[in-house]
Amino acid sequence: MSKTIPIVNATAPAGVSTAIEGDGMGCHAGGEKMLAAAKASGKSEVLAQYAKDYPMDPKAGPHDQPQSMCPAFGSLRVSLRMRRTATILSGSACCVYGLTFTSHFYGAKRSVGYVPFNSESLVTGKLFEDIREAVYKEADPANYDAIVIINLCVPTASGVPLQLLPKDINGVRIIGIDVPGFGVPTHAEAKDVLAGAMLKFAREEVLAGPVQAPRTGRSDNPTVTLVGEMFPADPVIIGRMLEPMGLAAGPVVPTREWRELYAALDCAVVGAIHPFYTASIREFEAAGRPIVGSAPVGHDGTEAWLQAIGNAANVPQAKIDMVKNMMLPAIKGGLARMPIKGRITLSGYEGSELLVARLLVESGADLRYVGTACPRTVWSESDCQWLEAHGVHVQYRASLEQDLAAMHEWKPDLAIGTTPVVQAAKEMSIPGLYFTNLISARPLMGPAGAGSLAQVINAAIGNKARFDEMKAFFGDAGTGHATGVWESAHGVPQDRPEFKAETRRLLEKQAKKRKAEAMI
Ligand code: SF4
Repeated sequence: MSKTIPIVNATAPAGVSTAIEGDGMGCHAGGEKMLAAAKASGKSEVLAQYAKDYPMDPKAGPHDQPQSMCPAFGSLRVSLRMRRTATILSGSACCVYGLTFTSHFYGAKRSVGYVPFNSESLVTGKLFEDIREAVYKEADPANYDAIVIINLCVPTASGVPLQLLPKDINGVRIIGIDVPGFGVPTHAEAKDVLAGAMLKFAREEVLAGPVQAPRTGRSDNPTVTLVGEMFPADPVIIGRMLEPMGLAAGPVVPTREWRELYAALDCAVVGAIHPFYTASIREFEAAGRPIVGSAPVGHDGTEAWLQAIGNAANVPQAKIDMVKNMMLPAIKGGLARMPIKGRITLSGYEGSELLVARLLVESGADLRYVGTACPRTVWSESDCQWLEAHGVHVQYRASLEQDLAAMHEWKPDLAIGTTPVVQAAKEMSIPGLYFTNLISARPLMGPAGAGSLAQVINAAIGNKARFDEMKAFFGDAGTGHATGVWESAHGVPQDRPEFKAETRRLLEKQAKKRKAEAMI
């Protein structure tokens, strides 16, 4: 499947334009033109579904949107984590380079397939033939249960019809999905694009006849499928809380193996731990499964979640109360033993931000703001209401600018956030913690979650004096237009506001021209 990328001096046939023509047709250019191209190329249906599943403010400009990594990373990550699953990307070489780099940086141990293209193969349909050929070559049932092909921005904008691929080759399932940056707002939601597509496929298989049992066999108790990538200990902890109610923790979606999809569908209740899996939840609803939002975090969250799960699974109230009596005092004790003292702002793009926020508030933190790149859904409504009742501002679809504005306004003792937020915090001598690396990598659920964040957070807050010392030592060196270390003998860079104004004017002119062209 791997190919050398050919450097071909090819031009499209006269009069045929392609989505890759023009400058800046990647994620830095804004998506309007690509969106229009994709709709014109037969992708309106899938894009309309994405617009419903992953809603954005239609008037949002480039700075009103969440700034996360390339969304396709979410789908790629889900696919690379599945056993016996091959992944093929179809997109610009620079996008594929970035995506494979990031996935291997995050520990993926498998190869990513790539089908390269150029303007000619794109407009003549040869790219689709190449993808088809690559899929046929890979489809060996001895090695794979499924092959996932992901259309990135340019092939989606050009209408490369992955839906025309066979659904099954030699017993290997073929899952083709479009994951363009202009249709799927965050990499979190791109996980749902693939998870939802696989659940749909698996549900149709279940309807068609008998399917494989889970590797570890079926549980004797009714199960609760958990939706959302979690710290590995969390499903185990949830399982322990469910056991006295006569329930068991089922698979976690996105699953790690194809046959787990059947087990996930074969549940009594679905726990939408992460609230943005709209396409996946649609499949569970089609299978007739009740859905429960939020998660067992902190005292109040655990209380409400156990009650909601118990109700949905028809567990007698006496049993639900018994579990609450076992768990809640332990959680309260854990929170009291490990208090968090200090003002915090919190932002992220994982989808678990509201859950972490609840835990912080119950630990005693003075939390003022929580921003999430994910959209508002019914499955996080109780978390949002609880946080607002505790004086926390909740911002869905938060942009970097909103996260930074909150930090400037509240001047917290600690900013938890994405890389640019943490970087800005440190520049202001505010200790910062990366949400993904340091907060998501801890248990959050039930008794194990109570107090689990305190150590890392209190240690970070305690570092404030070190930031002040560093700030005093470096003074104004290396800031603003004079960033870097300069010797006055060789000249320190001068600020040129007139140059900046001219560049801004040219960019605005260019943007207006693009908009006018797009309307023709
Ligand atoms: S595929 Fe990802 S990296 Fe490439 S242009 Fe689209 S959003 Fe950007």
